[in-house]
Amino acid sequence: MNRMNHAEENTRELSEFFHQLLQEEHERGVIGVASFTAVHDELMDAQKTKLREIVGSGFDSLYDSGSIISIAVAYRDPVIDYIDEEKNHSPDYPLWDRYAQEYDRLNQLLNRLAERIASRFDGIALEATMGGVIEDIEHVHEYFPMVISHRVVAEHAGIGWRGKNQLLIHERFSCAIRFASIITGVPLVHGTKMESRCGECTACEDVCGFIRHRDALPDYRENCRRYMLFLQSKGIKEDVCGKCIKACYRNSRFRDEFCL
Ligand code: SF4
Ligand code: SF4
Repeated sequence: MNRMNHAEENTRELSEFFHQLLQEEHERGVIGVASFTAVHDELMDAQKTKLREIVGSGFDSLYDSGSIISIAVAYRDPVIDYIDEEKNHSPDYPLWDRYAQEYDRLNQLLNRLAERIASRFDGIALEATMGGVIEDIEHVHEYFPMVISHRVVAEHAGIGWRGKNQLLIHERFSCAIRFASIITGVPLVHGTKMESRCGECTACEDVCGFIRHRDALPDYRENCRRYMLFLQSKGIKEDVCGKCIKACYRNSRFRDEFCL
């Protein structure tokens, strides 16, 4: 069997395995595969260094023909509606915190799934982005070298497009999904990056001034980090806000197509 046939067969097996795992967990999600080279070349320099550290002596071979698998699990309805809901004309922070708890649960689930896939496909699992970091750093720039961007992986895997809110938008789940990734040298078929479908939609910009004014701000992600710290002072226990997720899911031009 040639490499292409191997890749197709492995990719089919990978997809079946992932969906079987999802079924066991009673969850819904998506899987895709990105070219290691394409992801590496698009990462920030600090993340390129991190990726080299993770794969060590395997770098050259992975850069030549390796893959990074992207797995995503969707939030369950109606948790997205808990974000920024009001009670007595004020934000209902305890309800909002239930979204934060679901964020934590999905991260842990993704880490388990990533480990199972890594062990079956001879890979290295890259954990879901976990909370508990933003209060330990003084600027969002300190955070970037700590992680490999799951969004870049998902983008090159063809799972969705990069929205104006900078999140990955899937055609069914919107950006109400969380990610983990797995690096592997097993031959797999790679997806292709999608063009943005946001068009004239501004729902995420309408709900967040940081997104709306991102071109004028030094780095809107630092404003976002500080807003999350403010939310934590109100009782939200994870590094989350989620208003731009809810805006996309509920108010975007695709609101009638999105479904959790
Ligand atoms: S998470 Fe919140 S603060 Fe950050 S960009 Fe989205 S809406 Fe704005
Ligand atoms: S809310 Fe609209 S503009 Fe923002 S990411 Fe979603 S589809 Fe794109």
